[in-house]
Amino acid sequence: MTCREFSEFLSDYLASELPAEARQAFQQHFDECPTCIDYVKSFESTIRLGQCVCTHPDDPVPQDVPEDLVKAILAGRKKLK
Ligand SMILES: [Zn+2]
Repeated sequence: MTCREFSEFLSDYLASELPAEARQAFQQHFDECPTCIDYVKSFESTIRLGQCVCTHPDDPVPQDVPEDLVKAILAGRKKLK
């Protein structure tokens, strides 16, 4: 397994979606390759950051608000200030 293959398999591996055979090859590369160990560390911290964003589900971005309405609201706010 190459480092490129390793990075491509990583998300599947972390999601436990790799077949046992691929898992073993993945694990073996991981044991032998410091570059990929560093890669996994940074990948995991990226996932943690992503989860952090998802802990604020009460701040949805409205997708169906017409742009004119948004502009009107923003204009109204400016007037209040
Ligand atoms: Zn590697």
